[in-house]
Amino acid sequence: MIICCDIDDTITNMNHIWLKRVNAEYGTSYQYKDIAYWGFFGDLQKKGLDVFKYLEMDDFYDEITIYPNAVSVLEHMVSSGHKVYLVTATDVYNPALQHKINCVLKHFNPDIINRSNVVITQDKSIANGDILIDDKLETCLEWRSRGKSIYLPSQPWNQLSNGFSNCKQQPFSENEENDTMNERWLQLGEQLNLKFN
Ligand SMILES: [Mg+2]
Repeated sequence: MIICCDIDDTITNMNHIWLKRVNAEYGTSYQYKDIAYWGFFGDLQKKGLDVFKYLEMDDFYDEITIYPNAVSVLEHMVSSGHKVYLVTATDVYNPALQHKINCVLKHFNPDIINRSNVVITQDKSIANGDILIDDKLETCLEWRSRGKSIYLPSQPWNQLSNGFSNCKQQPFSENEENDTMNERWLQLGEQLNLKFN
């Protein structure tokens, strides 16, 4: 099996940190649940808050957490004979790109998951794995329409549409302090093992 796994807000808590930076600099008081649609940060940018600049800062990625259970589950999948790719839609001209990738990869055993497991594409529909793990609803819907298995970790911006009503979503984490994504990765690991065994 080939498992394609997104990076931002799937194995990392990026948007918690992004929102914290925005609120600290602009004196806003947005909450995580306010990121209720994919274009939330784009709309802030249009309103005159320069929020995209953080994505090009090395120290932004230093602050982001990689969920340890995500690392364990993905490494376990490789050790079980499956292929794992970290598939991210990052801008290739982002000056912080190499640092961002380093900040992710340093958590993995390089003998198991390393730079050759990273795929950068602006269009994940061209990736042809068996399973996609991704927080973007639209991407998951596209994969599912091709008969692929998907796992959509619950986030405020991907709450279920009618097209996804057969998939029960867990509550998303309302704040960084009570983030349950690490625990949810354990549950996903159990599901994946069930699927493979
Ligand atoms: Mg993502």
